[in-house]
Amino acid sequence: MSFDYDLFVIGGGSGGVRAARIASAEGKARVGLAEEYRMGGTCVIRGCVPKKLMVYASEYPGMIADARAYGWKVEAGAFDWAQFRSQLEAELTRLENAYRGTLRNAGVETFDLRATVVDAHTVALADGRRFTAKHILIATGGRPFVPDLPGAELAVTSNEIFHLDALPKRALVVGGGYIASEFACILNGLGVEVSQYYRGAQILRGFDDEARGHVATAMQASGVTIHCGTDVLRLEKTATGIRAVATDGTEREFDLVMYATGRKPNSSGLGLEALGVELGRNGEIKVDDWSQTAVPSIYAVGDVTDRINLTPVAIREGHAFADTVFKGEPRKADHELVASAVFTQPELGTVGLSEEAAQAQEPIEVYVASFRAMQTLFAGRQDRVLMKLIVSQQSRKVLGCHIVGPGAGEMIQLVGIAVKMGATKEDFDRTVAVHPTMSEELVTMRNPVRRS
Ligand SMILES: Cc1cc2nc3c(=O)[nH]c(=O)nc-3n(C[C@H](O)[C@H](O)[C@H](O)COP(=O)(O)OP(=O)(O)OC[C@H]3O[C@@H](n4cnc5c(N)ncnc54)[C@H](O)[C@@H]3O)c2cc1C
Repeated sequence: MSFDYDLFVIGGGSGGVRAARIASAEGKARVGLAEEYRMGGTCVIRGCVPKKLMVYASEYPGMIADARAYGWKVEAGAFDWAQFRSQLEAELTRLENAYRGTLRNAGVETFDLRATVVDAHTVALADGRRFTAKHILIATGGRPFVPDLPGAELAVTSNEIFHLDALPKRALVVGGGYIASEFACILNGLGVEVSQYYRGAQILRGFDDEARGHVATAMQASGVTIHCGTDVLRLEKTATGIRAVATDGTEREFDLVMYATGRKPNSSGLGLEALGVELGRNGEIKVDDWSQTAVPSIYAVGDVTDRINLTPVAIREGHAFADTVFKGEPRKADHELVASAVFTQPELGTVGLSEEAAQAQEPIEVYVASFRAMQTLFAGRQDRVLMKLIVSQQSRKVLGCHIVGPGAGEMIQLVGIAVKMGATKEDFDRTVAVHPTMSEELVTMRNPVRRS
C-alpha cells in the first residue's frame, strides 16, 4: 500500500519538531507536520523560553540593590512591562521562524492547522483534507487548566500570563508545583505583591524535602506570602478586583489570580480512543519504551504521554523514535537520572533521588552544606545556599544531588554528568575544588550530617 507520507506528526512542539526533522533529514522519510497554534510549541511560545526571560527581567531589582551595596550609585527605576512584552513577543516570533526554517530545510511539509486521527493510517486536517501515513506520531503536548470552581473564568493560567495588558498590583498564584512557584517569584521580583496558595503542606512536592523547605523559606523572605494548606473555594468579581474565598476562612482581594495546579495531556478529541489507543486516568497516551501505542502504526512522545514532562525529555523521545523507525537504529529514550531545575529565586537544581526516596530504597549517607555565598553576603543579603549529596552506603555512588542557590540550574547540568556516569562520593572528594566558588562545596563536604 502506498501512503501520502511515511510519517505524519501532529504537534509542532519540542518532541514533534525533533522527530519530524530527524525522520526527514536523516531518515529520508516523507514527513508532514500539523501545528494548530504556533510552531515551537509550549516550550518556545508559552513555557520555558518566555518564562526564563521573565525570570531574568524579575532578577534585576535584586541585582541593582546588590550593585548599590558594592558601591554603585544606581537606582532601579520603573519596570516597563509593555516594552518588555513587545520585546518578548519579537523574540518568540524570531524563534518560531527559526523552527519553521529548520523544518523547511529538513524537507518537512508543514500545515498550520489542527489535525485529528481518522484511522491507524489516516489523519484529517481542520480544513477537511485527509492524508495517509505509514506512521503517525502524536506530539500534542499538554495544557493548563483551571479546576471547576465558582468564578473559575476570572482566573488566568500560564498561557495568558505572558500577554497581560498591565502588571497587577496584587496577585494570587494557586498551586505548589514548579510553574506556580516560579511565577510567584517572577511576579514578586517585578514588584507585584504576591500570595501563593497551595493545598499541601509544602510547595514543590516530589523534590527533596530539605531543598524545597529551603526554597520556600527564601521565597517568603524575599516577599512571597506562601499559604500552605490553603485552597480556593470560589472566586468573585468585586468593584476593585477578584475576591478569593479560601478554605482557611479568609477572603482576600487580588487584581490577578493565576492557576498552576497541574497540566492535562492534549489527547481528547483526537479520535484516539475509538482506534484502540489506550489512555491513562489523566488522559495520557499509554506507550511502551519505544513510544509505541497499542496501535502499532501510532506512536506518541512528549507531555501527551506524561512520562517526564520536560522539553529535553520530549526531544530525546522524539529523536529516539525517529532513529528507531526511520534510521534503523533502535534506541529507547533514557528516563533515568534526568537533571532538572526550578527557576524560583533562589533556583533549585536537582538530579537523582531525594533523601526521602533514597532512604526508602537503601541505607544512605547525607552530606549537606548550607552557607551564605560570598557575593550576596558582601551585599548584606541573608540568602543561604544549600548543597546536598545523597550517597549509597553500600556502593558509595551519589544517588542524588540537590542545589539551592544562584546558578543552581547551570551547576546541576554538570553534576548530572558525574552522577549519570555513576560517580561515587570518593570521586567527588578526589576532585580538586575551584576556588572561590559556591560549587566547590560539592567536593569538600567531608562528614555526613546523618546516616539512615
Ligand atoms: C510555563 C511553563 C514553563 C515550563 N518550563 C520548562 C522548563 O524550564 N524546562 C523544561 O524542560 N520544560 C519546561 N516546561 C515544559 C515543556 O514546555 C514541555 O515539557 C514541552 O514543551 C513538551 O513538548 P511536547 O513536544 O510534548 O509538547 P508541546 O511543546 O506542548 O507541543 C505540542 C504542540 O502540539 C500542538 N497541538 C496540540 N494539539 C494539536 C492538534 N490536534 N493538531 C495540531 N497541533 C496540535 C500545540 O499547539 C503545541 O504547539 C514548561 C512548561 C510550561 C507550561
